[in-house]
Amino acid sequence: MAQGTDHRMIARDLAVLWHPCTQMREHPDTLPLVPIARGEGAWLIGHDGRRYLDAVSSWWTNLFGHAEPRIARAIAEQAGTLEQVILAGFSHEPAVALAERLLALAPREAGRAPLAKVFYADNGSAGVEVALKMAFHWFRNRGDTQRTKFIALENGYHGETIGALSVGDIPLYRRVYAPLLAEAIFAPSPDAYLARDGESAADCAERAAAELRDILQRHGHETCALILEPRVQCAGGMRMHDPVYLKRVRELCDAHGVFLIADEIAVGFGRTGTRFACEQAGIQPDLMCLSKGLTGGFLPLAAVLATQAIYDGFLDDSRERAFLHSHSYTGNPLACAAALRAQAIFDEDDVLARNVRTAARMTELAAPLADLPHVADVRQAGMIVAFELTRGGDRNTPFAAGSRVGLHAYRKALERGVVLRPLGDILYWMPPYCVDEDQLVLLADTTREAIAHATKDAN
Ligand SMILES: *Cc1c(COP(=O)(O)O)cnc(C)c1O
Repeated sequence: MAQGTDHRMIARDLAVLWHPCTQMREHPDTLPLVPIARGEGAWLIGHDGRRYLDAVSSWWTNLFGHAEPRIARAIAEQAGTLEQVILAGFSHEPAVALAERLLALAPREAGRAPLAKVFYADNGSAGVEVALKMAFHWFRNRGDTQRTKFIALENGYHGETIGALSVGDIPLYRRVYAPLLAEAIFAPSPDAYLARDGESAADCAERAAAELRDILQRHGHETCALILEPRVQCAGGMRMHDPVYLKRVRELCDAHGVFLIADEIAVGFGRTGTRFACEQAGIQPDLMCLSKGLTGGFLPLAAVLATQAIYDGFLDDSRERAFLHSHSYTGNPLACAAALRAQAIFDEDDVLARNVRTAARMTELAAPLADLPHVADVRQAGMIVAFELTRGGDRNTPFAAGSRVGLHAYRKALERGVVLRPLGDILYWMPPYCVDEDQLVLLADTTREAIAHATKDAN
């Protein structure tokens, strides 16, 4: 598919770049490498002028389309005013205004003190590290040295740094580094795909919650926090659970004095239908991690929202009791300005209401694909739709690990001008919110074709 300038560009790239999440040996023959010159709405446009529909929102970051002019302008204006300033001892308008905005929008639960403080980091994994360290340190500051453990969910994902990887449970990312990782306790996932015969998604969630109850009975006293991805375990294959699980987790964490960390890095900002996924269970976490869509997909930034009680636990005469965590670019003004503009677009364009209609259309277009012979499950949470491919088209007969059905589907879709990046044998749609009718139809047609092609001779 590559031609002309692409060939030269690919050669230059492979001479100097080491790409993320990639076995570099597969480039460019097994795995195409596609130079992108520019973006426009939901399209990525190659050097050769070919257009690719960005059905994965560039790793779940993009919200309103590429090169969205309002956000681009906000960044340019900020860059000409104040590009960066140390956030220790100094302040600036975008950081303050964004914190005010995020706290006003954060999930609320009747009878619970609201999230009250914002700590910035500069990517999702760093945000997770912040939340974990805050939870641990809070107990230390109270003289509670017993609480040194974290509970996380099986099949969960929270990033790639050593701390974040310690609470992640995806073998592909974790296994090699296991000797380096902090000890975590993994509770069964409420994943509705794992429901037993006759069990509803809610039953399955209640069963997982009952197992969590047992774990907390044994380990509650030595646990500082539980971390989870509300509603959808994204990197774990877009596996979805019933919101009742989140209600139970909230009750159990309260009963055991364990902090609840909601990692909304992927699911936040409207992906699952509501602004934040926690809203679907009517719960409020003690710490909430945001990143990815936070800046509309323009710049790296993370925000960790905390309760006043957590913040107060660090106030003291001693520097050691303070939360000294810092990144050079903490609260970068350009990123904060982008995030502020992105939040304003939600209101200006009535984005969440529009998404309800888009999601309904996605439901219609996805439904017929459920009848394809190798599709074991089609599931949806708002603007996320996933297709689980298996050999027998049921839940018990996955494809052999070496069959690489996902890769074959990816290549076929790319040929057709759609970026359909799989998670193993799971294909998913997580498009920018500006995706239109023609693009959705192209997406559905291409997905059908890619599945048929990839599963033809696979076993
Ligand atoms: C992507 C992701 C992270 C890590 O964010 P990075 O910016 O890639 O470090 C953490 N948690 C979840 C749920 C994610 O999807």
